Parts: sequence; C-alpha cells; structure tokens
Amino acid sequence: MTEPGTVYMEELDAFTYRERVAQGAPILIPVGSIEQHGPHMPMNVDVLLSRAMAGAVAGQTASLVAAPIVYGYKSQQRSGGGNHLTGTTSMDAATVISIAKRLVLELARHGVRKVAFVNGHYENYQFLYEGVDLAVRELHLEGVRDIKVMLLSYWDFVDDATIAELYPNGFPGWDLEHGGVLETSLMLLLHPDRVDMSRVADIPPAVLPSYDVLPAVPEVTPSSGCLSSGADATAEKGQILLDRAAAGMVAAVRHEFGM
Ligand SMILES: [Zn+2]
Repeated sequence: MTEPGTVYMEELDAFTYRERVAQGAPILIPVGSIEQHGPHMPMNVDVLLSRAMAGAVAGQTASLVAAPIVYGYKSQQRSGGGNHLTGTTSMDAATVISIAKRLVLELARHGVRKVAFVNGHYENYQFLYEGVDLAVRELHLEGVRDIKVMLLSYWDFVDDATIAELYPNGFPGWDLEHGGVLETSLMLLLHPDRVDMSRVADIPPAVLPSYDVLPAVPEVTPSSGCLSSGADATAEKGQILLDRAAAGMVAAVRHEFGM
C-alpha cells in the first residue's frame, strides 16, 4: 500500500502511480554519484541532495520523484577531486548515457510526457544530455512527439544575490564547491547526523590548473579531497540554499510544463 502523501515514485503502489501518470504528473529523476566528499561527509552526498531537491520541487509541482541514479560519471580533479581517489566509484560515459536514455524511454512507455533530470554531480550533465537527446530522437521516430525533458543542476538556481549573502568572503565557483559550503550546509540541514564538522578541512579554495592531465596527478588535489572549505557551513545557510534553489526550479518546471 502507498505511503500517504509521498512524492517518491518507488514508494507508491503501481495503481496509484498509473493514476498520477494518467493525470499528467511530471517525473523528476535525481542524479547523484558515489564520490568522496572529504573527511566530514559520506560518499552519497550527491544522491541525498539531488533526491531532497527533487522532493522539494515535486511537492509544489504535482510531480513525482523517480528512484535516483546513484552512480555518476567519473569525478574530475577540477570539480570533484578526481577519480583516482579510493572510495569514489563511477560509471563510464557510455553507461551514464545509456541509463539516461533508458529511463526516458521507460517513463515514456508508462505514458509519462514530462520528465526532468535533477542533477547533483557536476560531471554528469553532458552525458545526461546525450542520453536524453538519443531518447527523444528515438521517440520522435516512433511517433511520440509530445515528450518534453528538462535537465537541470540544482546549484544553477542559486542566484547572485544569494551567493553574495552566503559567501561574504568571496565565492570559489560551483566547480570548487566540492565538499564546501553549499553541500555541507545542505547536509547540515537535511542529514545532520551524517556530517562531522570536527573533521572539516579548513583550507583555502584549491588553486588548480586551467587544463586537465591524464592520468591524474594526485598532488593537484588537496589531501582532504575537498576543493574549498566547508568550515563556514551552517544549517541556516542550507535552508536558504534549499529554499532559493527549489523556488527557481519550481518556476522553471511550471514554465516548461505549462502548469
Ligand atoms: Zn557533491
């Protein structure tokens, strides 16, 4: 039996799910990663945060949240510390593309025509895009022309005014926000029992080259695995980030899906 009031698709019974799809409910797909997030947070931060962000959007857009894509594309040194770090467990691009494509096709088979990927791991984005593009093309060839798919990364909905408010000492950039104030604040708000602030590496933002080298050069990544400090993180900042990002995503979803 369905858990009352849940927005999470996998907690619904299939009959209730079919009713919601028949009513035109959009489906939001959280996309995370299993990636080291420094000494103070677990490796599933991107899964937890993308799922929570999608949940916040779903409640205000009559949407449902699909079970998350748990693994992500390879961590890169200039945005996630790098894939050489033990613990980080990633998929090849072809696999990410294939999963994104398959999920769109499966939801379309159910009758879903409005889908949004809510990304929580920087490196995933272009491969999700490719999978969606391939799925939409295939559906068009099959005569399904009313499918619409959105892709978004939640931090792109945090506006400049909020950034100025939350980063009075300067904003390192979203790529360096790996294990930093944004993610740590959201985790303090949503999963405080999974954060150990006594283990935060209070480092200046990493100074990284403006190019990549393969194989990875381990010395490029700070030893903490974080690219900026989470020491200034608070649950209050997490609430502001959640509210502003969710509001921006709600407006975008309503606009694109004509709600
Ligand atoms: Zn992360």
